Amino acid sequence: MEMYTQTKDIEITKHADVIVAGGGPAGVAAAIAAARQGADTILLEKNGFLGGMGTAALVNPFMSFSAGKTQLVKGIFQEMIDRLKQADAFGGTGHAWSFDVEAYKYVLNEMVLESGVRLQLHTYVVDAILENQTITGLITESKSGRQMLLAKNYIDCSGDGDLAARAGADFKVGRESDGMVQPASVMFKMGGVKTKKKALEYRVEDFDLPQGRVLFFGMPRAGEVMVNMTRIVKVNALDVDDLTRAEIEGRRQVKDVVEYLQNHVPGFEDSYLVTTGPQIGIRESRRIMGEYVLTKEDVIECRKFSDGIASCMYMIDIHNPTGTGTEKVVLPKGEWYEIPYRCLQPVALDNLLVAGRCISATHEAHSSLRIQPTCYALGQAAGTAAAIAVKQGVNPKEINVEELRTNLTEQNCFIQSSVAMK
Ligand SMILES: Cc1cc2nc3c(=O)[nH]c(=O)nc-3n(C[C@H](O)[C@H](O)[C@H](O)COP(=O)(O)OP(=O)(O)OC[C@H]3O[C@@H](n4cnc5c(N)ncnc54)[C@H](O)[C@@H]3O)c2cc1C
Repeated sequence: MEMYTQTKDIEITKHADVIVAGGGPAGVAAAIAAARQGADTILLEKNGFLGGMGTAALVNPFMSFSAGKTQLVKGIFQEMIDRLKQADAFGGTGHAWSFDVEAYKYVLNEMVLESGVRLQLHTYVVDAILENQTITGLITESKSGRQMLLAKNYIDCSGDGDLAARAGADFKVGRESDGMVQPASVMFKMGGVKTKKKALEYRVEDFDLPQGRVLFFGMPRAGEVMVNMTRIVKVNALDVDDLTRAEIEGRRQVKDVVEYLQNHVPGFEDSYLVTTGPQIGIRESRRIMGEYVLTKEDVIECRKFSDGIASCMYMIDIHNPTGTGTEKVVLPKGEWYEIPYRCLQPVALDNLLVAGRCISATHEAHSSLRIQPTCYALGQAAGTAAAIAVKQGVNPKEINVEELRTNLTEQNCFIQSSVAMK
């Protein structure tokens, strides 16, 4: 491959205490939390809107965030839900945790701006500048050209761990045996649906459906459902040619699945395709290796940690990387596990935290923690930690984790367990 060397000087455009890369569930929560803790915070997002997979790929609803009667994820996530409820854009006649995508985009913008975050959309984070183990700046590409932004601490919420990888962090992709990742899916919304079902999932044997099942969720507006039935396997989300193939294949599948629903599923006779996600939904790519790697055993044994900073009760949920079917391991009723702060700390990098689906975990543990509510909780923890570190003039690995846990408990986004096992 021929190499091209950039020789032009890069302009330093902005300074901040904390820069967050990526404005999905984790990034939004991280930026708001950091700003509320007093840090001058910039949020960079490649799209023209916030929300990550929930808006860019139409992922809906928010998966489970309560264990029995205990609501595990509150904080910024709950504030956002309260605003959606006020706008009649949450639950409604649809699935209890479904949300209207356009209202969601609006609410996230307003919450981010009200917190004092400096929002920069249409901005791709493409590189990091390092001095030993410290990131001194990051490089972005946008319509304004190539720019450099500087901060004391950085948080990678890009889902794919782009910033951490550019900074040289160690990462893993896929399952241990062969590196295969969960499949990608193009999600889509249908209107004119006359089913009263709030959600429906059943296996289909006599038709060649991509996931081998019917799976849809009712949306807050009557007659609309979000469909999760396409499956594109063997997609490397870090390879632009693979992404292109997946987008094309995904759209072909949408056409076939729409026809299947209209012809075979009661209530869909007069339905129509409203929209597909602006981009394909990526379940899994890089997992940045941190000071602790969360495992399947941690998840299914519902382990708690002395540096736990977020809780999750969602099952192990691995969509078959090579074909139809899904492997599920449900947690005991009313139980949950914790995610240690160490999973947010990439090894050998001092002033970077990761939050969201790219944190340090195995393929199996990742399949559970990747859901949107948990990513909000991880983001809120990372943003709070980065801001505490700025205030104390230390790096995020050096802060007192008890202080962080108490702060998160006071923000009503983490329940401290009395049992610390690891
Ligand atoms: C098909 C599918 C179905 C799913 N079903 C559900 C479900 O029903 N319920 C549920 O709760 N979860 C579900 N999930 C999981 C969930 O949507 C994601 O795991 C979650 O959104 C991850 O949040 P995140 O903030 O880590 O990353 P993302 O949501 O991926 O957000 C990352 C953000 O960073 C931006 N970004 C990426 N790279 C860069 C860069 N280099 N520079 C600047 N910005 C960048 C992206 O544009 C995006 O906005 C599903 C996922 C998929 C793909």
